[in-house]
Amino acid sequence: MSSLLKISDNIWLFPFNPEGVQANVGVIIDDDQTGLIDSGNSPQQARLIKSELEKIQAPPVKYILLTHHHWDHTFGASVFNDCEIVAHELTYDYLKQMKKINWNKEYILNEIKNDPSMKLSHEAKLAAIKDWDSFDISLPTMTFTNSMTLELKSVSLELSHIGGVHAKDSILIKELNSNVFFVGDCFYPKPSDNKVSLDILKSLHRQSAKIYIHGHGNPADITQLEAFIRQVENN
Ligand SMILES: [Zn+2]
Repeated sequence: MSSLLKISDNIWLFPFNPEGVQANVGVIIDDDQTGLIDSGNSPQQARLIKSELEKIQAPPVKYILLTHHHWDHTFGASVFNDCEIVAHELTYDYLKQMKKINWNKEYILNEIKNDPSMKLSHEAKLAAIKDWDSFDISLPTMTFTNSMTLELKSVSLELSHIGGVHAKDSILIKELNSNVFFVGDCFYPKPSDNKVSLDILKSLHRQSAKIYIHGHGNPADITQLEAFIRQVENN
């Protein structure tokens, strides 16, 4: 039994797990190649995704689209070789800075001391990644500024920069044939804040997707998005 959820003919989901800060990873299966939307929070999660893809006999992973630079969406990418990594140009800049860090347990413990507000996030990194010696951050191999499209055999992907309070580099990824939107974490506040980008939520609502897949929750339909918008407005 695979733990992948089928969303539409060509779209699957490796579902989020709130324990250990594991974000949803989208899977786009075309005739002869597979694409991922985000790459898991660690080599370990990425290897698990790889083995789940083998169970459904998915073609090889040839591209990863990153919704934004946060570690829980990007730290698994190095597991996938021979693969195009597509991201916003700001995501490239953030990851380039993060790659300069000598990641290891001591570094992270020190960061917790310097900024206790990031304690939960750092502790989740320590829980997710045990082998820091072989850890590496893979940089995007293809970037864009405002938008780009990827026309594949059975899927048609449109990527556009949306930014917002959660992360300046957030992008929206639409699969046009099935009208499924991957919105990354743009539904959420900044990790250390509680302010949400209401304008982005309203714009996503106007664009009326069949399914909205956000980083850390169950896929939502438009009625659920409306309820969420009302909740944000009333707070
Ligand atoms: Zn995030």
